[in-house]
Amino acid sequence: IANRLQLATGSTPLAVEQGLMKNIPKEKWSDAHHWLIWHGRKICKARKPACDICPLAPVCPSAEPLAGKDSSKGEK
Ligand code: SF4
Repeated sequence: IANRLQLATGSTPLAVEQGLMKNIPKEKWSDAHHWLIWHGRKICKARKPACDICPLAPVCPSAEPLAGKDSSKGEK
């Protein structure tokens, strides 16, 4: 989730953890831990993220376009 949201990027759990610690204020670490776990269980699932119902989709660089609603190419 951190990679998808680009809160922290990295190829190992340690690299992502260090990135999160750098980008999230220390007083929010505990809350952020729970938020990310909850978000991963309920919406941003590993195999099939539910971008169509995700409240973070407008700001998420990894948001997938809704099926049949991609008007960027002018196709029907
Ligand atoms: S928009 Fe999609 S990829 Fe981005 S956080 Fe939400 S569910 Fe995950």
